[in-house]
Amino acid sequence: MSQEAPLIAAIEAGGTKFVCGIGRDPHQLLDLTRIPTTTPAETLEAVSHWLSKMKVAHGPLAAIGVGSFGPVDLNPASETYGSITTTPKPGWQNTDLVNFFKNRFKVPVGFDTDVNAAVLGEYLWGAGQGMDPLVYLTVGTGVGGGVLVHGRLLHGLMHPEIGHLMVPPPQNSLAVQREGFCPFHKHCVEGYVSGPALAHRWGVRADSLPADHPAWEEVACTMGHALMNLTLALCPRRIILGGGVMSQPHLVPLIRGKLRQHMNGYLSVPQFGRDLEEFVVPPGLGARSGLLGALALGKMAFDARH
Ligand code: ADP
Ligand code: ZN
Repeated sequence: MSQEAPLIAAIEAGGTKFVCGIGRDPHQLLDLTRIPTTTPAETLEAVSHWLSKMKVAHGPLAAIGVGSFGPVDLNPASETYGSITTTPKPGWQNTDLVNFFKNRFKVPVGFDTDVNAAVLGEYLWGAGQGMDPLVYLTVGTGVGGGVLVHGRLLHGLMHPEIGHLMVPPPQNSLAVQREGFCPFHKHCVEGYVSGPALAHRWGVRADSLPADHPAWEEVACTMGHALMNLTLALCPRRIILGGGVMSQPHLVPLIRGKLRQHMNGYLSVPQFGRDLEEFVVPPGLGARSGLLGALALGKMAFDARH
C-alpha cells in the first residue's frame, strides 16, 4: 500500500491578504481561506489559528511553505533569514515569518518571495512546464517578478526586483500625471504600470479604464520594454504575465506586439515569429500560482528536513 503524501500548509503572504491553503496534492486542496493583512501580530495569530484548526480536521502538518511580499531576506546564513525586511508597508518592517511558524508548529518551513513561489508553481503544474529558464511577472498593487533557472529559484545578492527595471518614459503621454509613481525611481516599470500608478497617472481606477483608453497602449509599450530587457538578460523560454492589471484580456496580445516591435528583428528565433503567442502567456494556474508555489516550497522543506 502506498503511503499517504505529507500534509503541507501553503501561505501566500500578500500586502492586502494572506491566502492560506492545505493539502497533500496541488490538484486537490483540502481547505482554503483568506485572512486580511492588518498588523503582523494580529495577522500571524489568525493564520496560526486557522492552521491549528486544519490540524484537527486533517491530521498533523508535515511542513509549511510561505511565499511572501517583500523585500525578504532569503540568505540562510543571515541572522534575519526568513523575515520581511525593508517593506514600505507600515508595521511590517523586520517581521520574522519563518521563525514564527517554526516555533509555533515545530515543522520545516520553506520560504521565498510570493513571485518566486508563483514561478515555481507555474513551472511544476501550470503554464511553465518544461520551460527553463522561466519568468513570472505580476502587475497588480505592485509589479514583481520571480525567476527560475536550471530548476532553481533565482537568489543572489537579493531576489529579483523586476518591478524596478528602468524603462524609457512613455513618449507623448496623455496621462494627467506624466511622472512615474515609484518613490525611489523616476522611470521604473512599477511607477508606470502598477494598478495604483495607473490610477494616479490617469486619474481613474485601473479596473475602470475602458479597453480603448490610451493608457493601455502605454502600459503595453512599457511592459514591452521590460520584457525585452528580461528576454535579453535571462534568455527565458517563456514569460508568464499575472496579476490584476493583466486580467484585462486585450492587454497580453498588445504587449506581445510591443515586445516584437521593440526587439526590431534582432532575435531570429520562432518565439519572436510564429511562436510569440507561446512565449508571452497568461498563468496556467489562474490566481493560484503563488499559493500552489508555496505548497511546493513546503514540500521542498519537508524533503530537505534531514
Ligand atoms: P495584489 O497585487 O494586491 O496581490 P491584484 O493582482 O489583484 O492584487 O492587483 C490589484 C491591483 O490591480 C489594483 O490596483 C487594481 O486596481 C488593479 N486591477 C485589478 N483588476 C483589474 C482589472 N481587471 N483591470 C485593471 N486593473 C485591475
Ligand atoms: Zn521603482
